[in-house]
Amino acid sequence: MTTQNQSFNADISRLLDIVANALYTNHDIFLRELISNSADACDRLRYDAITKPELIADNPNFRIHIHKDTETRTLTIIDNGVGMNKKELTDNLGTIAKSGTASLMEKMSKTKEQKDRLNLIGQFGVGFYASYMVADRVTVISRKAGSKSIWVWESDGRSGFEVRNASANEKELLDGDRGTVVILNIKDEGSEFLLDEKIKQTVQQYSDNINIKIFLNTSDETDKGEGQPINSASALWARPKSEITKEQYDEFYRHITHGFDEPQMTSHWHAEGKIEYTALLFLPTMRPWDLYDPSRKSSVRLYIRRVMIADDLDGLMYPWLRFVRGIIDSEDLPLNINRESLQYNPVLAKIRTGITKRILSDLDKLSRDEPHAFITFWGQFGSALKEGLYDAVEHRDAIFKVCRFYSTHEDGEKFVSLSEYVKRMKDGQNEIYYISGENTEALKNSPQIEGFKSRNIEVMFFTDTIDDFWLQQVEDFQGKKFKSVTKGDINLDDNDNKDNDKDNGKSNESSEKINKLSERLKEILKEDVENVRPSKRLTNSPVCLVASESGVDMHMERVLKIHQQYSGETKPILEINEDHPLIKKLATLSHNDNNNENFNDAAQLLLEQARIIQGESLKDPAGFAKRMSFFMEKGLM
Ligand code: ADP
Ligand code: MG
Repeated sequence: MTTQNQSFNADISRLLDIVANALYTNHDIFLRELISNSADACDRLRYDAITKPELIADNPNFRIHIHKDTETRTLTIIDNGVGMNKKELTDNLGTIAKSGTASLMEKMSKTKEQKDRLNLIGQFGVGFYASYMVADRVTVISRKAGSKSIWVWESDGRSGFEVRNASANEKELLDGDRGTVVILNIKDEGSEFLLDEKIKQTVQQYSDNINIKIFLNTSDETDKGEGQPINSASALWARPKSEITKEQYDEFYRHITHGFDEPQMTSHWHAEGKIEYTALLFLPTMRPWDLYDPSRKSSVRLYIRRVMIADDLDGLMYPWLRFVRGIIDSEDLPLNINRESLQYNPVLAKIRTGITKRILSDLDKLSRDEPHAFITFWGQFGSALKEGLYDAVEHRDAIFKVCRFYSTHEDGEKFVSLSEYVKRMKDGQNEIYYISGENTEALKNSPQIEGFKSRNIEVMFFTDTIDDFWLQQVEDFQGKKFKSVTKGDINLDDNDNKDNDKDNGKSNESSEKINKLSERLKEILKEDVENVRPSKRLTNSPVCLVASESGVDMHMERVLKIHQQYSGETKPILEINEDHPLIKKLATLSHNDNNNENFNDAAQLLLEQARIIQGESLKDPAGFAKRMSFFMEKGLM
């Protein structure tokens, strides 16, 4: 007999420590995780058997057996799925596939509430280790389908594990010529799982809709009599909608997400016609921890005529719908080609179009029928969905329909849609005004929107990073162009009913002064700004910065630079408010005393305060502080 001892790497040791001490956690989930692994193993072999039917010829019915032994305090789960060879036992049960998982889990385990989140262990791809919540030793006996050798993995969940050949007794435990046996040595905390009733109830609660039969052998012996089936073992999605309860849908959702929450939205339909498929899709309530992990794939499972093909097939879902969970079961796709070529099958593209349309129209419906649920959804997933605005032009209109933003309307407390905005546009207004920035709070007080607010012209707030990306690709909504209020020249009075025309009564003399001031400021600040000009945007603030018509918005420039999508350097335009006392004073000063020694510093300070309001950094903070102190000192005297 060959035995190999290996120690767990640091990641797993830490994880096991957390799991073993997870006092506040719901222990039931270990069984759900083990059953889910067994069901996956059956699904995988069912797929392999399409091309190699001999793999299951002697033992064609997939199934899972569970039994307990109160004498030896063991709980055993047996499946006749694909099984594992020696290398797979070592790799799959001895390492963590995703890097960073363990440290993330450790962070989560710091407080009591977070410990509860260990319930989500299955979502991290480490569900197997949940066994150590109830067991102090786990033995896994496995025979890979088509292979002769039988291997055993065993560990107390502390220092490490051993892998060895199976003994004659252990070989006996397998269900026929393949599959996996997981034996748990139940510790005190897990005693309830030595009761048939508890096992049965747990399976029914969490695994009823698994489409593999699960049997409970209630005799205390380890014989493999059939036992009694304890789940319904039919594909839930294949049943008529009218026969499925909300509880069953929710349970199925929890099964596929390894979660405990309820879906925000459930869509179940059967498409017929040119292509035929069934879809059962869910929107989760909570954003998954890796939504923005670039390696994250969509997690909608693809079945072909009830056979599981893949759980993250590229091309089935758009990446911007990667938060959607559920299953698609196709009647038309060929079963006997490999997963890679499936991606390029035109039927798959048609299915993708069909489900995308349906999800977007269901979301639109949700926004009308259940605005609260919709807003929760939007807060969690809106920014991912908006990637579709540039990624999938053909769905852009439907995506826009469900997009929500804050705006100056009702003081920015309420989400508005673009069509609401368009409906509220003023007579003569042809553009959708927006300002983009870090957050609504800061944007609300931007000097650039003062003139809009005073004229009651609504401005949209675009606060997601992604907004600056789609705005580069998308010109208009319903023929109305998107227009940044921090860019280019804006003549608000064109939109106005001329009732508060600012220029009325302005003397030639004062506008001449202002023009001169602009010229002089421009000369002083020419290193940093492209131009200085009187503003139509400002009402309260003395100055603001805007981008030139052909330039890039300052916020957008910053965002693009962070994402290394832009390397240019554009000088902004400094706009001055000719009605502001400070600007008036400077204009007079500049007019009367061309050589005032403080004028240069005042010019710098104007630019610096405009940059600060904008959230930009200062080129020379020390110089700024000096100038500021100087003027403060004078002002306080
Ligand atoms: P996940 O299921 O998310 O991959 P787990 O920790 O539950 O994470 O399982 C790790 C891996 O171990 C699985 O991906 C699978 O390859 C393997 N495995 C676990 N249980 C079984 C089983 N009963 N039969 C075959 N392979 C299994
Ligand atoms: Mg698992």
